[in-house]
Amino acid sequence: MVFAKKKWGQNFLVDNNLLEKIINNVKIDSNENVLEIGPGQGALSEKLVGICNELHMVEIDRDLITILKEHDKLSQAEIINQDILKVDLPTLDIKNPVVVGNIPYNITSPIVFWLIKHLTSWNRAYLMVQKELAQRLTATIGTKDYSRLTVMTNLYFDIRICFLISPNVFLPKPKVQSAFIEIMKKENSYHKDINLKLFDQIVRMAFNQRRKMLRNSLSSLEIDVKNCAIDFTKRPEQLSIEDFIEISNNIIS
Ligand code: SAM
Repeated sequence: MVFAKKKWGQNFLVDNNLLEKIINNVKIDSNENVLEIGPGQGALSEKLVGICNELHMVEIDRDLITILKEHDKLSQAEIINQDILKVDLPTLDIKNPVVVGNIPYNITSPIVFWLIKHLTSWNRAYLMVQKELAQRLTATIGTKDYSRLTVMTNLYFDIRICFLISPNVFLPKPKVQSAFIEIMKKENSYHKDINLKLFDQIVRMAFNQRRKMLRNSLSSLEIDVKNCAIDFTKRPEQLSIEDFIEISNNIIS
């Protein structure tokens, strides 16, 4: 047993029923490879290794690496001592992995953007995240949770909450509720046809002043409003991804 380190968001899973529930939800085929982010002491890893082709784990904490290396069920798995945010996924040479992770909640958004950055190098992802963040990732248009994070991630992903998780299944217990989410890549390729930098800038500007009408929050941009099929008296949470794309396609440069 190791002491949990707060700085690395270490809350270890200690409930076998929950671990089985995760395994049933990820539906990993025996010929699929898995990349586990933050394996900790290997509670989930020892179940994953039995159902997949190759298991690769990226863990930042050297003390946990020692434990993982001594774990009798993980001798076939690859253990990588790195910060996942610094990993350049294509260089790991893992064929189309399913990404799975009970990840530190303070770096959930960076990990989601890391998944966007490496979009072509993985298949689908399952993450345990703070419930409130899961609600933002899956928010529907017009709700208070609909945010920049919702728009930016939904450009690439279809995300769903598989189930909620009580703090009682972790040691130490976190103060918040968690959710297990599935991230599938969108079949359409909107992101390939737009100016991403501009799109990001517009979404950011709009949500930075989310109570303001677009005509005010985006007033510093030169937009071809006559050609743009958007009602600029709306507020950002009333706009779909397609609406934001329509605006970015009508910026006069
Ligand atoms: N998967 C284990 C479990 O369920 O019991 C541990 C989960 S714990 C919430 C998060 C794990 O991620 C810890 O083992 C922590 O050391 C590791 N971690 C934290 N930051 C990381 C990073 N940037 N890259 C890789 N692993 C990280």
